[in-house]
Amino acid sequence: MEILHDKDVDDSILKGKTVAVIGYGAQGDAQANCLRDSGVNVVIGETEILGGRNNPSWDKAKKDGFVVLPVDEAAEKGDIVHVLLPDEVQPAVYEQQIQQHMKAGKALCFSHGFNICYKRIMPPKEVDVIMVAPKAPGTEERVAYLEGFGVPGLVAVKQNPSGNARELALAMTKAMHWTKAGILECTFEQETYEDLFGEQCVLCGGLVELMKNGFEVLVEAGYPPEMAYFECVHEMKLIVDLVWQGGIKRMAEVISNTAEYGMWAEGHKIIGPEVKERMKEALARVENGEFAEEWVAESKRGIPFLKASREEIGKHQVEIVGEEIRKLFAQK
Ligand code: NDP
Ligand code: MG
Repeated sequence: MEILHDKDVDDSILKGKTVAVIGYGAQGDAQANCLRDSGVNVVIGETEILGGRNNPSWDKAKKDGFVVLPVDEAAEKGDIVHVLLPDEVQPAVYEQQIQQHMKAGKALCFSHGFNICYKRIMPPKEVDVIMVAPKAPGTEERVAYLEGFGVPGLVAVKQNPSGNARELALAMTKAMHWTKAGILECTFEQETYEDLFGEQCVLCGGLVELMKNGFEVLVEAGYPPEMAYFECVHEMKLIVDLVWQGGIKRMAEVISNTAEYGMWAEGHKIIGPEVKERMKEALARVENGEFAEEWVAESKRGIPFLKASREEIGKHQVEIVGEEIRKLFAQK
């Protein structure tokens, strides 16, 4: 795959265009600030009163010096309407406040392919539909930009009636400095399926269950929870940082020979072929839309499972011990 950098992208296509960033959360905040600092004209679309209360995101965008408008007015103003609302909220807001402003010559942009991929938003044929997806959380994006660098990202094009959709998407990533790190081109489907698979099986779901089960086994066997926390949670970052820097090879060089032997002799017995089979099942449920359907139904019910899970992990010893230990560290 080709990786695109600054020299491969011309961002002059953004001159004179307005980007309406809809939603000022993790991504909206980071992306709007980076675009503005690069000289792009940005307005924010938010909701002033949400759930009967002043919406903190509206106030924050104002405080940060942006022109903040109700979503439908921002969508009307924007040449590029960049939807950075939570995925589960996007279809209703799109239908009520954005759809009527998606006229020929405009572009609809996302940072995750979910709603286009699963056909929960069906934009008119005459607008460009693009994606600029950072491979990092919003906080990291902003820090990297301020340090004069950027985070890597993905770019995809779903509809291209203008003939310029790809150039537009790439220009957005250049303005946010992601081209300094590197850009991969893909399809909406590839980004969506890989992203969901990754967060379920490896990054979030896999990681949390691995740490939690390891912690539980040690504590149930009578080891002190503080030590179990260090072993199974705290040290995770140090190991992952080494892999991030120089691959598994680099990590294996730094850990002891004893650790390296244990890694190869025992690791595959823990995460073995049966886990790989379940990962394949998870990928199939992502690809056939079953997972998306389940998540949409959960969000329509008012996220009872999500709320119960948050409460349950809050009470888990790994979180309670971790909070205590992190406080002690912070005091030094
Ligand atoms: P957040 O939840 O952080 O922010 C969403 C914003 O939308 C908030 O400002 C929120 O306001 C606002 N909002 C929520 N409900 C409504 C509503 N009904 N009407 C108007 N505004 C509303 O979302 P993210 O930034 O995490 O996600 C945005 C997009 O970016 C998603 O497509 C996601 O998949 C993608 N993405 C996210 C990444 C991340 O690191 N978080 C990484 C890569 C992609 P309030 O806070 O007041 O509720
Ligand atoms: Mg992701």
